[in-house]
Amino acid sequence: MSVTAFIESLRAEVRGLPAYNAGLSGEFVRARYGVSHVAKLGSNENPRGASAAVLAHLAEFTTTGTLALYPDPSCSALRSLIAERLAVDPEQLLFGNGSEDLLAIAAHTFLAPGDEVITVIPSFGLHIIYPQSVGAKVVTVPMRADFEFDVDALIAAVSPRTRMLIVSNPSNPVGCAMDATEMRRLLNAVSPGTLVLWDEAYFEYAADEDGYPDSLAILRESGLPWLLLRTFSKAYGLAALRVGYGVASALELADLMNRVRTPFNINQIAQQAAAVAFNDQAHVVASVEAARAGREWMRAALVRLGINPARSCANFLFFDCGEDATKLAGRMLEDGVIVKPWREAGYETCMRVSVGSTADNALFIESFERRRGR
Ligand SMILES: *Cc1c(COP(=O)(O)O)cnc(C)c1O
Repeated sequence: MSVTAFIESLRAEVRGLPAYNAGLSGEFVRARYGVSHVAKLGSNENPRGASAAVLAHLAEFTTTGTLALYPDPSCSALRSLIAERLAVDPEQLLFGNGSEDLLAIAAHTFLAPGDEVITVIPSFGLHIIYPQSVGAKVVTVPMRADFEFDVDALIAAVSPRTRMLIVSNPSNPVGCAMDATEMRRLLNAVSPGTLVLWDEAYFEYAADEDGYPDSLAILRESGLPWLLLRTFSKAYGLAALRVGYGVASALELADLMNRVRTPFNINQIAQQAAAVAFNDQAHVVASVEAARAGREWMRAALVRLGINPARSCANFLFFDCGEDATKLAGRMLEDGVIVKPWREAGYETCMRVSVGSTADNALFIESFERRRGR
């Protein structure tokens, strides 16, 4: 059998799967464009990196730790820290090799071919790709023209046929967040047979914004099946180590997901680093404050250039640049500036830029001004 014939015999949902639009690496851009410095503003990483306490712990691990033993398959130390802080049953917690791993595990656990999934557009790519990989049908509800969640349209879209509702709050890529009232109103319209997957990858950035929901409390009071996701990749500055966690509404749901996941999906170094990071909230607070200041500086600079970024409670801005964003982003690479042009239909003139260091934010504005409009 030829490779072509073999591939044609595989599941249609796999053959038709879109590739994830991952940001470019700094190394690639340095080599390809011959620039000495790269402003990597395409992946919402923390420009301050991991906390000093985490780096010290990793240095110690390299001298006294061992790589010969399998990691703790249940992440016990990290589990008890998080369970205590969130006041949840430790067995409600799930861990993933990044929260993207938990998105994949949730798709494999809860979805079957033909199941309907509702999410928003513009969207976080994996909210669509993983459900599609198991044959689910994804229905996307556009954000409003003013780049806020269209809660009325979401309410109109959900039905007893909906198996899963996926929302990232704050929204990636837009940055806006649903408030407590809107979140309650949405969940009230959801049927008991729908699992609500609430992705709070940017929770730490938004947590003290006015009106930002206590999502755990609201999910609990909904009585629905739900899964809340958070990550160490963004505000904690640990994207390279890959640790995300989830809280499931019921121990039985967590148990099912634990059977689907691979048993050693969080490596030992990542488990330890995440625990140290979780105990160093001062680093998170400082990172969030810096992101907010940088974000508002960038917003003001963009407004002066006639651009109107969406409201953001996160560490990035999303805006319509009024031209083909992929081409503009391509020209900005020549200045060593990486941003994320949006590719979803209807949003091809939009781009998302992460808040970086003060210098990189300025470099972005300079490059944007120089390269736009051609
Ligand atoms: C970044 C991000 C994630 C994934 O983060 P991990 O690095 O896999 O933990 C998940 N959801 C959203 C909305 C994100 O922006």
